[in-house]
This record gives sequence, structure tokens and C-alpha cells, in this order.
Amino acid sequence: MKGCMLCPRQCGAVRDDKEGLGFCRMPETMRIARIAPHLWEEPPISGEKGTGAVFFSGCTLRCAYCQNADISHRGLGRPFTPEQLADSLRRLVDLGCPTVSFITATPFVPQILKALTIYRPPVPLVWNTSGYETVDTLRVLEGVVDVYLPDLKHFSREMGQLCAKAADYFEAAGAAIREMCRQTGPAQYDRHGIMTRGVLVRHLILPGLTSESIALLDWVKDNLPEGTPVSLMRQYVPCNGVDIPGLDRPITAREYRRVRDHMLALELPGYEQEAASASAEFVPLFGEDESFV
Ligand code: SF4
Repeated sequence: MKGCMLCPRQCGAVRDDKEGLGFCRMPETMRIARIAPHLWEEPPISGEKGTGAVFFSGCTLRCAYCQNADISHRGLGRPFTPEQLADSLRRLVDLGCPTVSFITATPFVPQILKALTIYRPPVPLVWNTSGYETVDTLRVLEGVVDVYLPDLKHFSREMGQLCAKAADYFEAAGAAIREMCRQTGPAQYDRHGIMTRGVLVRHLILPGLTSESIALLDWVKDNLPEGTPVSLMRQYVPCNGVDIPGLDRPITAREYRRVRDHMLALELPGYEQEAASASAEFVPLFGEDESFV
């Protein structure tokens, strides 16, 4: 039996109903930690009622400083069949969510596609990802996903390796984001300002690493179609007991200004986050009864 090759880890791991032996440790059966409206994404994703967010357990990247480590590192969540996911998607739409977001869903692409054959929400589908994707897997999503919401995290091989054991992070994410842009074309919005198609690139500024941020913004400017929006995130707080030297503090106002000013100088359109968002209080509740619609 051919093992799993869904993400750039290319583990070739066997995954059965109960367990997975790959880097993400996910079994074949979907595991989900939360399904609920989520207000804390960018305005064109969340709208006024919140995106219908499906937080999948496991992660193909597992950053050392992850804010959602209970689900990404420790696999908190419940098993879901495609039929059960389809029912939940219907409930999210009934609640008025303007978009539906699949968050770190890469290990479950085949199962999600099956759920969407049972029920395809009549709202934009958002693929919220670490950016660590293969072009082959993205091609399977072509025509299914309307909006890609990829992170662009690390520029150097050293930081990719140190933070996520992925020296090839930038190489993989760069190719993936280019493919996403090819699939969707330029960003489009409906009359309520909800993104109906396109790519919105997210970048989280890390303490002491503004030069990485600047290199990544330069790459966006030079490599992605003009007008591709960027969401600049300042909410880094040390989480998950991160023990990487220098990552034990939030970013300073000066660091934020340096990166934001560079983004403005490049005339990249996009979004900034409020300083108040740098709080662990914004981590949603996972794995409880009330975590599911
Ligand atoms: S999705 Fe998981 S098992 Fe599959 S290649 Fe990636 S890390 Fe390995």
C-alpha cells in the first residue's frame, strides 16, 4: 500500500482508521478539534458573523511556538466521518457564516472532498494553511477551494529548521503560494466585502527576526501578482513552552513599525492587526462539547 504523500514531509506513512505513523501523527479518519463560527480572521474572511471554522487536529508543520499546540502538537480532537462533517458544514451555513474555513486540513484532503460531494456549502470555501503544501495536493483542490489563506512564515532554511524542522519551508511555501495564485487569479470580493476568490497571504512577525519578515515581503512583491493582499500579524506570544533563544517575548512596537513601514513602502495592499491581539486569550476553546456547532 502506498503511504501518505499529501504534504512536503512526504512521509510515505501508513495511516489507518485509528493511528497514523507520519510526522503529523494523524490517522486516516478525520480528527477535528472545533467547528464553530470564528470572528478573529481578517474582515473579508470573517465578515460580521464569523467564518464557519473547522479546526482540524494535527499539523504538517508543528511550529515550536504554536498557539494552538493542543491540537497541532498534541492531537486533541474527535473523529469525524465525511457525513458528519457535511452535517456540520450545513449547520455553519444555517448560522449565517459568510465563508467556511478548513484550517490545517492537509492530512485529510480525500475525506474533505468526500464530505463536499455530500454537501457543498453555497459560500466561499477557504483553505487556511501553514503554507507548507505540495503543488500536487493543491492541484487536487483546484476548482474546489475559492480562497487560499496561506501563512508565509520563514525565509531562511535555518529558521525553517529551527522552528519547524522544515529547512525546505520557504521553498515549499513559495511554490505553493504561486500555485494558489495561479488557481484563483486576482482577489475578488462580494458587495459585503467578503472575499469570494483569491489568495490572502499571512505573515506573523517574530521577535528579533524583522529581517526575515522584510525578505518575505520583498519576495511577495517580486513574485506574486500585483494586488495580492498581505495580512501582517503582530500577535506573537511565546506559547507551548517554546525554548528557542529569542522567541521568549512578544515583538516590540519598534519591530512592528519596521516591518509595517516596509510593507507600506512596497505598496502591498492588506491588513494590519491591532496590538491588543497579542494575547493568549484569543486562543479558541478546543475539544469541549461547546466547541462544536
Ligand atoms: S500529511 Fe502527515 S503523514 Fe502525510 S506526508 Fe504529511 S506529515 Fe506525513
